[in-house]
Amino acid sequence: MSRTRGGGSERPESAAALLLVGHGSQHSPDSARPVHQLARRLRKERAFAEVRVGFWKEDPHLHSAMDLIESHDVFVVPCLTSTGYFTESVIPRELGLTGRTTRRAGRTIRYCRPVGAHPAMEGFVLERAREVAPLDPADEARATLVVVGHGTEKHPGSGGTTRSLVERLQGRGRYRRVIAAFLDEEPRVEGLLDAFDDSYLILVPFFMSDGWHVGTTLPRALALSGGRTERGSTTIWYAQPVGTHPALTDVVRELVAEERARPGNATVPPVVEGAGATPADVTNARYEFLDWISQAGVGGRVFLQTAVRLCESSASGEPRFEVRHLADRDRDPSELRKFRDLEEAVELAALSNTGGHRPLKTAPDLVAGWRFAGLGPEGLWEVFTHLYPAAPVHRYLAAQGRLSVTPFEQVAARQSGIYAGIGRISAAEVGELVGVCCAREHCLRTPTWAGVGEDDDGEGPDVDRTPCPEPCSVLLGRAKETLDLAGRALDATRGRA
Ligand code: SF4
Repeated sequence: MSRTRGGGSERPESAAALLLVGHGSQHSPDSARPVHQLARRLRKERAFAEVRVGFWKEDPHLHSAMDLIESHDVFVVPCLTSTGYFTESVIPRELGLTGRTTRRAGRTIRYCRPVGAHPAMEGFVLERAREVAPLDPADEARATLVVVGHGTEKHPGSGGTTRSLVERLQGRGRYRRVIAAFLDEEPRVEGLLDAFDDSYLILVPFFMSDGWHVGTTLPRALALSGGRTERGSTTIWYAQPVGTHPALTDVVRELVAEERARPGNATVPPVVEGAGATPADVTNARYEFLDWISQAGVGGRVFLQTAVRLCESSASGEPRFEVRHLADRDRDPSELRKFRDLEEAVELAALSNTGGHRPLKTAPDLVAGWRFAGLGPEGLWEVFTHLYPAAPVHRYLAAQGRLSVTPFEQVAARQSGIYAGIGRISAAEVGELVGVCCAREHCLRTPTWAGVGEDDDGEGPDVDRTPCPEPCSVLLGRAKETLDLAGRALDATRGRA
């Protein structure tokens, strides 16, 4: 296949990609936002051939994150403040990692330490404390600095990163006391204010985002009123979370450099058998997608909720494309907001047409009223990677009859923690969930993993649809609710007996 088909340019195969991994949320955009912002800054720095993101609880889902990447070398950096259940269980499982270095589906994937483990966190905590409480040294020596982590009693090592950070800060002797407190393990933050009669208390959230916990849970638990709260003879300052510090890009680059230089890294492990798109698949999907659009000429194509068309060529003969919302297909361009920055597509995909969070990018509620114009082939691909992550790749693989599909039972079997038992729901209940979650009014993908969308002749999936290769976090969340309801019904029955 020609490497310039559709006008696409070659990517250097030796250049590495970066995958930033976050928790994500089905309920709020606040969890993913700092990861997207970090990715945006790193893309602008051009330190990596590609910078992609992947989340456990929202799109782009971790299980499809590698389907976004064309590079052969990938560094995975968890955007988390601590090591624990998520870094040791969830991320390796969802990405199919077998250790610090994994070779699978044509890639060498290197798994870095989470950002919270970097020594720079010490300085970030102190900077956050000073920003909110600019005390002179004499007053600092009278103040207590509290580093507030999440923690969890489900994983014994969860608070370890916070505790070792606190130990290092204690060694600096700048504040009278430096202590750790947690949301979900002892010592809990709720009892904190009664434990001290200090005049000055500075709370620094050791969290990645200013999401629900930092914005609501902690202020509510401590009855805080903004950045500064006066209570009796105590002044309480509440800082910005450490994870939104602007120098986090340096931390990510250093974690990658550390992993690259790690002794033993030169030992290349054997290739792990596994499904998923190879770098060549992703590249070919890109060319196929561009060809598909180019062949339609100015009439264009409809892809999910967008209308995309070839509109002109640059002076060098490179094709130029326009993308807009399908509902705006016949509107005059002057009526639409024109985006120039490709990163605007991340913002577009984040919020629905009613302003709500969009954990599924294929939900049919993409906001209208915009257009990207004059896009080159690379820019067009970038826009669709943000709007509909991995969807063109899955469409391409389905057309080839090579889409790897993971049924509910297999996904359920690999779950752990509170999701461990979801495989106990019946096939009929799974079918009901598909009928609700995957209905066209909720999601524009076709749940191929559930056998929906197969041609009548049984020769493969219907490629006019955008296939969904495995149950997403929204469906798994509903499966958990179904299991909980069944458990409560059983408990109620036993209670009556
Ligand atoms: S599991 Fe259903 S709702 Fe989730 S992405 Fe797939 S088709 Fe859409």
